[in-house]
Amino acid sequence: MRAALRAVVFLAWIIVLLPVAAGAQGNPDWHRAIPGFKIAGNLYYVGTADLAVYLIATPQGNILINGNFKQDVPAIRKSIEGLGFKYADTKILLISHAHGDHDEGIGLIKPDTGARLMVMDADVAAVESTAPGRPGAKVDRILHDRDTVELGGSTLTARLTPGHTPGCTTWAMQVTEGGRTLNAVIVGSPNVNAGYVLVNNRTYPQIAADYVKTFALLKTMPVDLFLGAHGAYFNLKDKLPKMGGAVNPLIDPAGYRAYVAEREQAFEKELAKQTAEARTGDAVGFDLAWNHVALSVPNIAETMAWYEKMLGFKGTVRPGQPGARQQVADLRRGNITIELFQLADAAPLPESRKNPSEDFRTHGVKHFGFEVKNLPAVLAELKAKGVKMAFDLRVTPTEDFAFISDNAGNAIELIEHKTR
Ligand SMILES: [Zn+2]
Ligand SMILES: [Zn+2]
Repeated sequence: MRAALRAVVFLAWIIVLLPVAAGAQGNPDWHRAIPGFKIAGNLYYVGTADLAVYLIATPQGNILINGNFKQDVPAIRKSIEGLGFKYADTKILLISHAHGDHDEGIGLIKPDTGARLMVMDADVAAVESTAPGRPGAKVDRILHDRDTVELGGSTLTARLTPGHTPGCTTWAMQVTEGGRTLNAVIVGSPNVNAGYVLVNNRTYPQIAADYVKTFALLKTMPVDLFLGAHGAYFNLKDKLPKMGGAVNPLIDPAGYRAYVAEREQAFEKELAKQTAEARTGDAVGFDLAWNHVALSVPNIAETMAWYEKMLGFKGTVRPGQPGARQQVADLRRGNITIELFQLADAAPLPESRKNPSEDFRTHGVKHFGFEVKNLPAVLAELKAKGVKMAFDLRVTPTEDFAFISDNAGNAIELIEHKTR
């Protein structure tokens, strides 16, 4: 079962890594260059047909959000210059999240422009990584939820929307267009990629809780301009031909709310599916070792004496409060522990519970058992000491067993498994 679980985790890992590598040539819109265009105010789109890159133009230079894949950097540069801005004026670099389709090109743009790179804390290690497909770019400023990035009179607010990556960032800013102030929201990603492990995730244990927080936040953000890390999030394909008309198609608060609601449902559906699968037992993420059994007895001292004499346990009474109506003791032999309780006015064990066959007619925990070698010899020794039998020796092809009663009437099974 452990090997199977490891295989599943390993497989999930591969699937998580694959979209970046396979996708680099997988989706033609990712690398299809389109001319840059103005969104509103000083906010511009300079990405490819699907991989969104945003430029915020200020008198003190420009902010760029996302760098796409390395192969897309020339198209980004062309879009920036096509709008009349200078690539070299890029002063600050930001990302939506640390996946290659949004950050790999940062590894080129940063040394090209000398811009300062600012990344949400939980994605910093992935951005600085020099592993294949990673930008390997030094982060100059580590961001936290609600931090602001300011340049030339423009302010962007970083909102931590984790799950898709631990440091996934949704950017919010206000732009002014025609005397109207518009709230722009650039969604980092609410998507659960194929192969993402939401239940018993060993490298990202809080992933599901993070998605829940992300959806709660996205639902409360004030939105006029609905934007995101991929054009597909906000249906750029259909909106782009409508740009330049009387109404800006990117002003779409209803589309934003519908998108977030649909993505939340998709997350909840996947979480329910993975939770159900985990319940089948093979995917329990923790180990168990046997610990103890507890007995309520009429007299702790007598019970300790019985277990010491008959079964070789050692008893220790736990220090208690003076005058306490409850006494507790532990019986130990090897790694077996029996916890004993003696309560004033406790009711005695019913007669029916002292006979194993009869006791099965009542639901509940019935008895506990010890494995022994040479059961007939063990029983002979116990009988010589005066043990009370509850169920005498029964011989079967696979095991021999018998039940004895302790001094309080609890049934104890002694069992000997037969090996061939
Ligand atoms: Zn991603
Ligand atoms: Zn992406």
